[in-house]
Amino acid sequence: MRVALTVAPGETRIEERPDPECGPGDVVCRVLACATCGSDVHGFYVARKLPAVLGHEPSGEVVAVGREVAGVAVGDRVAIHHHAPCGECRRCLHGHETLCDRFRSTALDPGGFAEYVRIEPDLVGELLPLDGLDPVTATVTEPLGCALRAQDRAGLRPGDALLVVGAGTSGLLHVAAAHARGVEAVWVREPDPTRLTRAEAWGATAHGNEPVDVAMVCTADPGAIASAADALAPGGALCLYAPTAPGVPLGIDGWTVFSRELRVTASWSAGPGDMRAALALLRRGAVRVEELITHRFGLGETGAALAAQHDGTALKAVVIP
Ligand SMILES: [Zn+2]
Ligand SMILES: [Zn+2]
Repeated sequence: MRVALTVAPGETRIEERPDPECGPGDVVCRVLACATCGSDVHGFYVARKLPAVLGHEPSGEVVAVGREVAGVAVGDRVAIHHHAPCGECRRCLHGHETLCDRFRSTALDPGGFAEYVRIEPDLVGELLPLDGLDPVTATVTEPLGCALRAQDRAGLRPGDALLVVGAGTSGLLHVAAAHARGVEAVWVREPDPTRLTRAEAWGATAHGNEPVDVAMVCTADPGAIASAADALAPGGALCLYAPTAPGVPLGIDGWTVFSRELRVTASWSAGPGDMRAALALLRRGAVRVEELITHRFGLGETGAALAAQHDGTALKAVVIP
């Protein structure tokens, strides 16, 4: 099969590899679509993984099922999750399932930017039937699941006021997810006028100095993080949604955190429940996916897809092998 191997940031090449073999507990899927993600092109964040076949937002069609696998059949179309927690360890029981050792050790083989992907036994139970949902739409399951998880971690409730900082794909998904959970007051900070206008069309309002209950910061810029903290009402929560580079201080005043009882939290990835909730929201049409997925590429153009994600040409690009 052909795979798109990213050898260095900005450098992806097509390679021929043996088709994945389906072990007794495995499932093999033909990749129908796989979206690019900001994290695939985020400097230091992706560099530590390379070389790798990237792509963690795939949907696929089952082409082989191991003899020990039940409940999955050849021909099923599924949303595919890239990691699975154990559900039993201390981390999982405390709600940090994406920090579970098993979550971190599971992976797609080789990754979504390939013709086929092997789903290892721990991940098979996380396959979610599309039930007729378009496979391209289904690629949004994972990023939307990440947004839902972050809003849960920040304690966002109906009736709250939310500030979303950064109106790229993640910011827009936060706007849609917040509306879906009954949050009417959604403010946005975005320096790019086109992106701001789009976020406004999605129902967000440009932020002035209104106090908010939750600030969801979809950028790693320390200045933006610090000023988002300033927007919090007493008792509010700041959620870091983009990976800040190691060694960079947040620049948040400690006295402000103490005296206003602010919570500073973060959210990494999505768990199985988040994936299911996200797929249900996509089925309900809660996200304007057709506006989110701005570009489509063949597998041979995966490098171009990643470049379009990196330079902001694409809000989200989808690779269709
Ligand atoms: Zn992602
Ligand atoms: Zn666990």
